[in-house]
Amino acid sequence: MSFACPVCGFPGLEGAPYDKHGCASFDICPCCGIEFGYDDATTSHLELRMRWIAGGKRWWSDRGPPRGWDADRQLAQIGE
Ligand SMILES: [Zn+2]
Repeated sequence: MSFACPVCGFPGLEGAPYDKHGCASFDICPCCGIEFGYDDATTSHLELRMRWIAGGKRWWSDRGPPRGWDADRQLAQIGE
């Protein structure tokens, strides 16, 4: 099972960013580099997303994006 990042929409997170009680995982999204519960403690997901887009929608992790990764298609799937 995988989960989507609430900031960039990356659908391949290994754990839920927040559990059902609203507790953060403190995992880091490999796509946008946001640490859940830290970076988004004081800044909204929308604001963080706008910063990521303004910064060029770059893949964050050293491991590199999955084959066929498309930032724009990923963003289009965020339902907000
Ligand atoms: Zn992300």
